[in-house]
Amino acid sequence: MVLVVEGAELVWTGQQELLGGGLVCEEGIVSQVVGAQTLANGDWSTLANGDSGQDLEKLDASGCVVVPGLVNAHHHLLQSAFRTAPHTRHVPMREWLAAMGELYSQAQVDPSLVAAAAAVAIAEGLLCGVTTVADHHLTWPAGADATEIADAAIATASDLGCRFVFVRGCSGGDPDEVAQSVEDLVSRHATHPMLQIAVGPAGVHSDGKEMFDALAEVAARHNLRRRTQANEQIDVEIAQERYGRRPLEVLEEWGWLAEDVTIAHLCEITPDEINRLARSGISATHAPGCDLPMGWGLTEVGLLLDEDIQVGLGTSGGGSNDAGHLLADARLAMQVSGLASRPLTSREVLTMTTAGSAAGLGRSELGHLESGAVADFCCYDISDVYDAGVADPLAGLLWANPGRKPRHVVVNGKVVVRDYELLTADPYRLAQELKTEIQKSN
Ligand SMILES: [Zn+2]
Repeated sequence: MVLVVEGAELVWTGQQELLGGGLVCEEGIVSQVVGAQTLANGDWSTLANGDSGQDLEKLDASGCVVVPGLVNAHHHLLQSAFRTAPHTRHVPMREWLAAMGELYSQAQVDPSLVAAAAAVAIAEGLLCGVTTVADHHLTWPAGADATEIADAAIATASDLGCRFVFVRGCSGGDPDEVAQSVEDLVSRHATHPMLQIAVGPAGVHSDGKEMFDALAEVAARHNLRRRTQANEQIDVEIAQERYGRRPLEVLEEWGWLAEDVTIAHLCEITPDEINRLARSGISATHAPGCDLPMGWGLTEVGLLLDEDIQVGLGTSGGGSNDAGHLLADARLAMQVSGLASRPLTSREVLTMTTAGSAAGLGRSELGHLESGAVADFCCYDISDVYDAGVADPLAGLLWANPGRKPRHVVVNGKVVVRDYELLTADPYRLAQELKTEIQKSN
């Protein structure tokens, strides 16, 4: 199967900016990135170097900027069932966590609610250009079958055609059981082509050294990425209460500042912490769409980047960020950066949103469009009034047109969104199904 994307205004590969042109993708891989010059002389059917017997699909990208698919490195999909819930806005994080816990137990979280919430969150992401999402799943009600809960989210992502990272998280629980559940996940899904499994305790505020040790061990055995969260309000408070130290000092002592670890949030980092992080080779996930509106802290992203720390971007979940629109959060990250440390350029932030997030997942084949990358990309139409007068169309993706959505989205060489329409499910039906699930538990 060959997919040819033609007529683009600009292709940003993550490294190069090619005026005009398009892409050729074969069997889900970018085989050629073609500038306007080559196109003028060429014939697409010969550029796609397969024999004429191959299926050839064309995608019209006229008036569009083509960019790598966005990688949402940090989401909690289940929380999409609990957006704007009472007592969860403008409250300290300690109260927020308690309120969310209350909501989960009232709702009796089960596999069908997990699937319905994941479907809404993933469909929303795809319609907003997110081609890979990492679901840091933290909610495992007592008595519920962990296998069924994980598989509900995984099957939903497959049905919708999204590349998926299931971060087997925890917030308390028995370390041996959690580690065993990771083992089970790995053995059930070892050959799934669109799925990555990772491990992720919620943070030093929720779990002790035993849990971190157990998950580090299973991660090492199966070569899985490790993720956790640090330096949000409650994390700092509890680390101080319990250990008399900052969360990153505790994580360092527990062996969780290392190259295979990605840490989400990282608010209000001190110069000493930046040194620790830089020495360790960790990567970071910035989540401004969660931490800023909630008032839980600013992240000094410029200082991290200046120390060559890889920084990605995540929305975090619907309990704190009521939208899964990663590009909107990229815009926010850029807009507030000058207040946090130094101004970030639009290209720095677009890189965070693509290759930066991919690096945090240990996935060098994602987040760029050089030849050999996976064929995950978005075509953003810039021919409407919203972008008229924009001198720099790539910068304009963030500066102009808030709420921008892609015209086409391709994942693994397959068109998933065409002309703003999700092809893999009816979004209204997904919304209705989630509504029904929520009503069932009330
Ligand atoms: Zn989070």
